[in-house]
Amino acid sequence: MALTNDRCICLRKVEYSETSQILTLFGRKCGLTRVIAKGAHRTTKQGASKFGGGIDLLDVGAAVFTLDLEKQLGTTTEWTLVEGHLELRRNLRAIYLAQYAAELVTFLIEEHDPHVDLFDRLEATLGELATPRVEEAFLAFELDLLRETGYLAELSACVSCGSAPSEREQVYFSPGRGGIVCRNCEGVVHDRMSADPRLLRMVQSILKLPRTNGAAQRLPKLTRHQTDPLNRMFAEHVEHTLGRRMRLPGFVLDNARSL
Ligand SMILES: [Zn+2]
Repeated sequence: MALTNDRCICLRKVEYSETSQILTLFGRKCGLTRVIAKGAHRTTKQGASKFGGGIDLLDVGAAVFTLDLEKQLGTTTEWTLVEGHLELRRNLRAIYLAQYAAELVTFLIEEHDPHVDLFDRLEATLGELATPRVEEAFLAFELDLLRETGYLAELSACVSCGSAPSEREQVYFSPGRGGIVCRNCEGVVHDRMSADPRLLRMVQSILKLPRTNGAAQRLPKLTRHQTDPLNRMFAEHVEHTLGRRMRLPGFVLDNARSL
C-alpha cells in the first residue's frame, strides 16, 4: 500500500479501544481523510509512544498514512507534531471557536477533495485565535469557508421579493430560505429570526476585504455581542441546508437556540 505524506490538522478524534484513535485529518494536499492511529496511546519500554502520547484535536502535524480512496479508513503510520497550539488552549472561548471552525470544515467539505486555500486559512486562523482578536479571526474564517463551499447565505437582497432593504429597515433572516427577508415579506416566512441591519452591513464590508491570512487584523474590533447573532444565523442556515445538527454551536452561541 502506497504511503502519503501530508501536512494535516486533526479536526475530529474518537478514542478507539484502549490504545488507538480514529481521526478525521484535514490534509493540505489530500483534503479530509479518516484514518486510524493504531497504538497511539501505547508506550514503549523506554516510555515513548509512537505518536507522542496521542494526537489531539486541532494539532497540526506532518503525517504519513495509507490513502485508499476505495476504503473508508486509512492508517496513520507516522505523526510528527508541528504545532500543538498551547497558547490557544488557554482561552476557553478561543478553543470552542477553533473546534467549531473544525466542525464546520468537516460538515462543509467532502472527503478526499483538496482545499489548499482553506487549509492555509484554517491553520492561520488557529494562530489568530490565540491573539486578543478571537471574534474577528473566527468570523473572517467562517465567511471565507461559507463562501468557498457555496454555503454563504444571501445577505444583500430579500430572498422573497429581491428588494434591497434600506439601511434603517428592520430585516429578518430565514435559515430555510437561505437569506434575509424584508419587512414586507416577513409574513410569508415561518422560520424568521430578526437580524440587525448594522451587523449585516458590517458583514458585507468584511466580504469585500481581500481573502488573505491576517485579514482579521483589518476587521473592526468586534465583541461576542456582535458576532454571536451572526454565527447563529450562519449555523442555522448550514444545519437547515444539510439537515443535521452540529455539536459546537451549543457551546459557542450564547443562549444556544433562538428559533
Ligand atoms: Zn421582500
